[in-house]
Order: sequence, then structure tokens, then C-alpha cells
Amino acid sequence: MPFTEEAHQRLAAIPNLTVSVHTPLSRYTRFGIGGPADLFAETADDQAFIEAIQTARALDVAVSVIGSGTNLIVSDDGFRGLVLRYRAANLDRHGTCVRAEAGAELQELVDFTIGRGLRGLETLAGIPGSVGAAIYGNAGAYGHSIAERVVQVRFYDGASIQTFANQDCHFQYRESIFKRHKEWVIFSTGLSLDPADGAALRKTADDIVRVRNEKFPVTMKCAGSIFKNLMLRDLPAQVASAVPATVIREGKVPSAYFLEQAGAKGMEHGGIRVATYHANLIYNAGGGTAAELCAVISELKRRVQSRFGIDLEEEVQFVM
Ligand SMILES: Cc1cc2nc3c(=O)[nH]c(=O)nc-3n(C[C@H](O)[C@H](O)[C@H](O)COP(=O)(O)OP(=O)(O)OC[C@H]3O[C@@H](n4cnc5c(N)ncnc54)[C@H](O)[C@@H]3O)c2cc1C
Repeated sequence: MPFTEEAHQRLAAIPNLTVSVHTPLSRYTRFGIGGPADLFAETADDQAFIEAIQTARALDVAVSVIGSGTNLIVSDDGFRGLVLRYRAANLDRHGTCVRAEAGAELQELVDFTIGRGLRGLETLAGIPGSVGAAIYGNAGAYGHSIAERVVQVRFYDGASIQTFANQDCHFQYRESIFKRHKEWVIFSTGLSLDPADGAALRKTADDIVRVRNEKFPVTMKCAGSIFKNLMLRDLPAQVASAVPATVIREGKVPSAYFLEQAGAKGMEHGGIRVATYHANLIYNAGGGTAAELCAVISELKRRVQSRFGIDLEEEVQFVM
């Protein structure tokens, strides 16, 4: 029996797991790019998810976990192995504490907290993607990130289910311990919020979403910012001293500042474009491929390195 067929049969026998074969991943990425996964499975059940990982491991099948695909570049060849998606999406409130399952959309969580007069997540309004990935990449905007509100994270480490307190998660700017352990899978998180006036929170969130929708139209096939911003303190002294104070925000220099000077705005390669109004925003204008996208990313990194001696780091994640 061919290998994928055996894996398919064994996965299909797991209760509460939905399995498909040769599944186009372009359907699951906001870029609309990505070839087929040999196997694709989804579930809202922790045990089914764990069983799927163990089955893949027993058959030596590679596993990649995705969320809502808003920060992913998937190879044009797709993924030789099993792509797994965790769909549990319950949200519960106990006083000022909220528990969110990883498959919930972050926006649903933001709306849930605002609707209950709980302050702390309103500046994350409009960030697309799931709660699990928001923890993984410490999603944030407007000077705040989800880490500020996380009390604990429940996850599977490949052997058992663990719970980490905030400090164990090693959160930093767009970083967490989960990014360094890509085999770990986040199932849920507990957050601590503050009581506040729901109407004021709603207004803050709505104002933010309005601004965001102008920068990132909802139909734009993109991943938000491609590169992380840079910590001013990490830049070479002569580069740091040349950055105008007006550009610096919370000790960071937007990578767009360097990209713009490297001539990124409006760059085109096949179906891939760099926005004319934002040098760190790359999108698929139609028919773009992962190969073209990666070529643009490499070229931008090359230009910034050769002009400023700085290595840009991708915020976007790869499934290759
Ligand atoms: C228009 C636009 C604007 C954006 N603006 C912002 C912004 O302001 N701030 C910001 O921080 N981000 C922003 N992003 C990036 C994106 O929204 C975040 O990275 C988001 O958290 C990705 O969520 P996702 O579910 O789509 O994850 P995916 O893209 O599917 O996956 C991203 C990574 O998370 C991992 N992952 C997913 N689920 C789990 C899980 N349960 N356990 C462990 N790992 C998991 C995946 O393995 C992958 O490596 C923007 C993206 C877009 C398209």
C-alpha cells in the first residue's frame, strides 16, 4: 500500500478528525499561494489532534501545523506530509479572566472581551488569524501585544499536555518559546483583563479597524508586514544615529524605513507586488507564486544588507 494511502487510512480511523488528501493549501493561505498537502486534517478535539500527530510520527510522516493562514508562505510544491489545523474555538469568561481555545479567531476574542466590558485586547482589533498563532507569534499592534494579558498557555509538547505560565512562554516582540519549538501545539490560553466601559473600548477598536482596513484592504492577498521591525539598540551605531527620531516607535525602527530607501515600494515580480504606499507590505496581485514571493523577499534582504549592513528577519512563517 502506498505510504500516503496507509497514513490516510489510519488518520481517517481517528474519531472527530476530518482528513483529506492532495489538498490545495492555496485555499488556506491569505496569499492564495501554496501547492497541495499530501494529507490535510482538522479537528476541534485535543485527543484527535494528538492521535493524528502520533500516527504521523509512527509512520515517519512530516507534520506542519497551521492556523488561519494569514502569516504563511507555502511552497508552490505544497507540503510532503500532514498539515494539521486545530479548530476548537470556545471562549469562556470568569470575572475578568477569559479562556480562549486556539482555533478561535483573534477578532472573535477581541469582540468577546469588548462585549463584556473587559479592557486589554482592544488594540489588537483587526489583526487577522487565530488565537493559537497570536500566542505563537505574540501578535500585537498600537504598542501592545497579546503577551501583556496572557496568564497561561495550554499546549501539547509532543509527549504530554503542559501548561506554561506567562514567564515560561518567553514572550518578546513577535516571539515566544513556541516559535522555537515548532512541534509544540497550542490548545488554549487564559487571559487576565480589566473592567472598563464597553462602549469606549468598542470605539477604540472600531477606530483602529478603520485605519487598518485602509492600509490592508480586506481582500488584499498578503501577510501584513513581511519583515519584523528592528530594535534601535541592536542596530550598528552609525546606522542608528542616522535614523530620524520621528521614525522610532517604542524603541523600534520600522523595517519599512530601510526598505523604502532600498527602493522597495512598487517593486514587481510576476504576480507579486510591493505596495506603493508601504515598503514592508508585499501582496499577490493575482497569479503570484511562492517562488516569486521568496525571490522578492531575498532581493529586499540583499538590498538592505548591502546598503545598511542590516539583516532583516521575516515575520512571515514558511511551510516548505
Ligand atoms: C492584513 C494583515 C495584517 C496583519 N497585521 C498584523 C499586526 O498588526 N500585528 C501582528 O502581530 N500580526 C499581524 N499580521 C500577521 C498575522 O495576522 C498574525 O501573524 C497572526 O497571528 C497569524 O494567525 P494565523 O492563524 O493566520 O496563523 P498562520 O498564518 O496559519 O500560522 C502562523 C504560524 O503560527 C503557527 N501556529 C498556528 N496555530 C498554532 C497553534 N495552535 N499552535 C502552535 N503554533 C501555531 C503556525 O505553525 C505558523 O508557524 C497581519 C496579517 C495580515 C494578513
